[in-house]
Amino acid sequence: SQHNPAVTWTQYTKALEQQTRETVDLTTKLRHALEAGQLELYYQPQVDLASGRIISAEALLRWNHPQAGFIPPGRFIPLAEQSQLIGPIGDWVLHQACRDLRAWRDAGLPVTPVSINVSLIQFELGSVPDKVRQALTDYNIAPEELTLEITESIFEQPGQALKQDLEALSAMGVRLSLDDFGTGYSSLGHLNDYSFDEIKIDKSFVCQLNKGRYPQAIVKSVIVIAAAIDADVVAEGLELESQITAVQALGCTKGQGYHYSRPVPEAVWRQLLADQKSW
Ligand code: C2E
Ligand code: CA
Ligand code: CA
Ligand code: CA
Repeated sequence: SQHNPAVTWTQYTKALEQQTRETVDLTTKLRHALEAGQLELYYQPQVDLASGRIISAEALLRWNHPQAGFIPPGRFIPLAEQSQLIGPIGDWVLHQACRDLRAWRDAGLPVTPVSINVSLIQFELGSVPDKVRQALTDYNIAPEELTLEITESIFEQPGQALKQDLEALSAMGVRLSLDDFGTGYSSLGHLNDYSFDEIKIDKSFVCQLNKGRYPQAIVKSVIVIAAAIDADVVAEGLELESQITAVQALGCTKGQGYHYSRPVPEAVWRQLLADQKSW
């Protein structure tokens, strides 16, 4: 076949147009989804590895589109961030999680703290501490019952405003968790500048644990560092018994993963709490 840059360029442009159209289309649908109530929070248990008991819940956003069906967060969260829709969506997540927590308590269920994910764009849009304070007041929730999970990538552009916000949240008593630890940008230095209460070891390390000493060394050092800054360590992506044994051998006491439970709808979560489910 002959190399023809003109054709390649046309194809490229067409593909790009197609992609842009799809992105715009999906973003419009997402904006509608928020208003139409198509967004839902699922909950996944965080477990005390020794006893198998639920110690906390991570809220994970789900979009169920009436025609397209289930659209994964890995697809729509980036669009929400690009379009700044993550602002109102993040507000909704905060309120919904607090509302659910309040409802579980009012129903007399043995509630656990709840973690929500907050993206950098939300901090850039502003007022995160004020919004959190307001939500805690509105639903009468103690600050230590709420954990904000912030991905490590936030430190790629750590502005002064972000630092102030994280300090304000810490001072308020809300727990801060460093998510996806060990991926991408190294934030070891930043651990000293912020007061994180929890470090989540990314599942990419957990799933390689049986394959070599490097991932083991990483997990081990995270546990040592966490102890030094007085933070909890949570292992993500525990799917196999062997992975649980491995992280425990390295000193990890808390974990989360499909072995225990996939993220479940709120009604199912209530049942797990009511049953005081343990694994
Ligand atoms: P994340 O915060 O790292 O959440 C953990 C992801 O790992 C979830 O994917 C969860 O379903 C999945 N997971 C849990 N246990 C296992 C396991 O044992 N094996 C495997 N392979 N995966 C497991 P999910 O729900 O698709 O969410 C993907 C990402 O989307 C989240 O990653 C988070 O970055 C983002 N996200 C989800 N909800 C929100 C939200 O409300 N706000 C923001 N800003 N981001 C969110
Ligand atoms: Ca998370
Ligand atoms: Ca703190
Ligand atoms: Ca994670």
